[in-house]
Amino acid sequence: MTNRRWGILLILALASVTGHAQEKADLVLRGGKIVTVNPRQPQAEAIAILGSRIARVGSAREIEALIGPGTRVIELNGRLVVPGFIESHGHLLGLGQSRLILDLRGTKSAEEVAEQVARKVREVRPGEWIIGRGWDQNNWPTREFPTHEELDRVAPHNPVYLTRVDGHAAWVNRRALELAGITRETADPPGGRVIRDAQGRPTGVLIDRAMNLVARHIPPRRREENKQALLLAIEECLRAGITSFHDAGASREAIELYKELLREGKLPLRLYVMISGRDEALLREYWQRGPEIGLGDSQLTIRAIKLVADGALGSRGAALLEPYADEPGHTGLLLLSEEEISRIARQALAAGFQVNTHAIGDRANRVVLNAYERALREFPNVRDHRFRIEHAQILDEADIPRFARLGVIASMQAIHATSDMSWVPARIGEARAREGAYVWRKLLDSGARIANGSDAPVEPVNPLFGFYAAITRQDERGNPPGGWYPDQRMTREEALRSFTLDAAYAAFEEQLKGSLEPGKLADLVVLSRDIMTIPPSEILRTEVDITLVGGRIVYERSSTRP
Ligand SMILES: [Zn+2]
Repeated sequence: MTNRRWGILLILALASVTGHAQEKADLVLRGGKIVTVNPRQPQAEAIAILGSRIARVGSAREIEALIGPGTRVIELNGRLVVPGFIESHGHLLGLGQSRLILDLRGTKSAEEVAEQVARKVREVRPGEWIIGRGWDQNNWPTREFPTHEELDRVAPHNPVYLTRVDGHAAWVNRRALELAGITRETADPPGGRVIRDAQGRPTGVLIDRAMNLVARHIPPRRREENKQALLLAIEECLRAGITSFHDAGASREAIELYKELLREGKLPLRLYVMISGRDEALLREYWQRGPEIGLGDSQLTIRAIKLVADGALGSRGAALLEPYADEPGHTGLLLLSEEEISRIARQALAAGFQVNTHAIGDRANRVVLNAYERALREFPNVRDHRFRIEHAQILDEADIPRFARLGVIASMQAIHATSDMSWVPARIGEARAREGAYVWRKLLDSGARIANGSDAPVEPVNPLFGFYAAITRQDERGNPPGGWYPDQRMTREEALRSFTLDAAYAAFEEQLKGSLEPGKLADLVVLSRDIMTIPPSEILRTEVDITLVGGRIVYERSSTRP
């Protein structure tokens, strides 16, 4: 924003006090219900925008005074306006790439996956890799891991690599195992597991770090393909009403592409980037350089480090304090030690970065909290660290109050709870599930903040699905009746806040966005229905009509155009 614009804003602010409004707005939305997420003015009828910022929020009469000959007016006709949704944990490149590969989400059996692979085999050259993502054996009749044989039948000559929905397991065929040289003699790598049959032969499923035994043989995607993928993902986010996106683990190439898109004016979605902690050279560079905040017009911020402490529950990689209920003796995989996390956290604190660590099991969560606590004790002057735990799915009772006490943000994905609820009690036992699984209410009551998200492409990026899951703890058909451990539900206000103001807080951006108030960025969405009052089932049928970023319409549903 230029100085002149700031001056105008100042005049507007003064005028609103003195009653002499003279400068007119560029854009006004009126005649609807504006839910602001600003506790001082929770609701309004109209909103005026000047340049990229909100000039005023108020009654129809108050805003009328700001309408001049050059003002564009959007009639809301009773529709709802909320702050632009903030995706607190997604994988932008992964989301885009998932649009370029076999999409296996929602498949109902291993045979159905094999059919999709068979179709792909007919399109590609012999020997070319077939890549896919999204299978979930928990949705299949047997609920058991598949084997390479099912893929060998349809793809004898093409290596096949199919990532599980959570990204923590891969299902490959014999050709891929051969190319990677994986045999019964191959040892499990640290932090990984090669699933084997009774004779010790690899079955074709690789968990966590073992995935890389095969993945490293896949030719890398060309940069242009990745750029194309990012553009697809950005478009999908804007369509879903997302105006800011926290990218949970960006590579060097992704960061370069973000900067390139910004230079080319192709970044209408604001990005908050967590640097992948796997790239040590990249981390060293950023320790030297320090964070990059608000590049462009607050479009790109690189200020966080993403670490991964354990695997996922679906593939039994999440690190638990007590063994899995359905696999005695196995407690999952801890991928980073307390010492390692604490060491990186200290470097991050010294260099001005936030640390965001993936932790799903109760053991991983405890280890991360311990590591953060140790590092923070050495930096008593850093009061506003805003360290986060990503997922925080299974928590031991003793660790729940530590989030608020240490000021650690719980970055959770409400939709994971309803995707996982049918099999979680079997994995970890009824008692642990009741006491510590996706305990939003306990965390909120303890004073912790929850930032919500989808973990896309693990789940659909649509924040309305997460909003629905947060307030119902039911699947899309309304099961189970009453909700799964319904005492842990969020209220609608809390759920909205977790997707807006508290998500902004989780990126040090609550002064800039996350609520609709004068001076903040004009990032907002117009929804077809009032998600704050309609029956929950109708939330899933609600459309995003308009998405505004920085006062600019970046998406408009076609049937809403005049
Ligand atoms: Zn993730």
